[in-house]
Amino acid sequence: LKKGILATVTLLSAVVLGACGSGNASTGESGYVGIAMPTKSMERWISDGNNMVTELEKLGYKTDLQYGEDKVENQIAQIENMITKGVDLLVIAPIDGSALTNVLEKAANEDIEVIAYDRLLMNSEHVDYYATFDNFGVGVLQASYIEDALNLSEGEGPYNIELFSGSPDDNNALINYDGVMSVFQQYLDSGQLVVRSGQTKFSQIATLRWDGSTAQGRMDNLLSANYSDETLDAVLSPNDTISLGVISSLKGVGYGSSDKPMPVITGQDADQAGVKSIIAGEQTQTVFKDTRILAKNTIEMIEAIFKGEEVPVNDTETYDNSVKVVPTYLANPISVDKENYKAELIDTEYYTEEDLAQ
Ligand code: BGC
Repeated sequence: LKKGILATVTLLSAVVLGACGSGNASTGESGYVGIAMPTKSMERWISDGNNMVTELEKLGYKTDLQYGEDKVENQIAQIENMITKGVDLLVIAPIDGSALTNVLEKAANEDIEVIAYDRLLMNSEHVDYYATFDNFGVGVLQASYIEDALNLSEGEGPYNIELFSGSPDDNNALINYDGVMSVFQQYLDSGQLVVRSGQTKFSQIATLRWDGSTAQGRMDNLLSANYSDETLDAVLSPNDTISLGVISSLKGVGYGSSDKPMPVITGQDADQAGVKSIIAGEQTQTVFKDTRILAKNTIEMIEAIFKGEEVPVNDTETYDNSVKVVPTYLANPISVDKENYKAELIDTEYYTEEDLAQ
């Protein structure tokens, strides 16, 4: 009899859960996934986290989403805590890609699978898969945008440009730089692009934690040391937070007025603030990496792992973390400017018109 009652109760709860329309949301019966994100101070990671949780819960996974607020020790403690709570799988976008070796070892000891999310986890064999965008391609899109805007392939120039890169502890920043240089090197060599500061090496142009105010400070220095009698024609900025810092600095010395137009300025992420700036005619371009697609690709990996099926990857050669080449699923980034932002961002319902109102 007891068994019968139990079965009825189980059946009833299944029906109730089904009727709520949330499927088996948050029951965790599909599995328990810990998601460690780097910071809430950049829009994209908030969307990344929200998309992952919403989609995973629809599929019956329990989730634990944490943000390290750009402090490595926070992220380590959060991941340790997830391991203690008994997660089955970890999705990690590291703050410092090389700082998690020990905690990944602990995860491996508990047989927890690990997916590196957007940023590669370095120096560890305990990284099972990597889901990201074509980071080299992001750099190519940014540099090609400047190449086209300045007609460099037609032989025009010389033009003055300054270069910025992302955080030195983020493998994406390095790959992004390689993509940029694959387009720019020939124009630097031919003298069609001139970097008056002389700062072209990654170590000279990197921006710790992709921080906008750090970039603003560096741009202030570059302008006062090199551009009192010269005009800056372009800035290769690796993402929208850095572009915003660069633009504040440029405005401070009068760029953006009718007699001193803004240089061509690239970006990345299609942050709301970045797209608004493009619409306002300040930033010129950004690279849209649809976080919904990254979440979907990651979840397909997770589902395959839990079901014991073949995990979808499309690159098994590029992403070497110094210990192993991590099987990767790459998604395509898209260049966005004033001409196509409506088609790419509003028609696809990434943003509404109101989101982008000035
Ligand atoms: C991501 C970029 C982001 C940057 C700063 C990189 O790893 O790929 O999309 O702008 O981190 O958060």
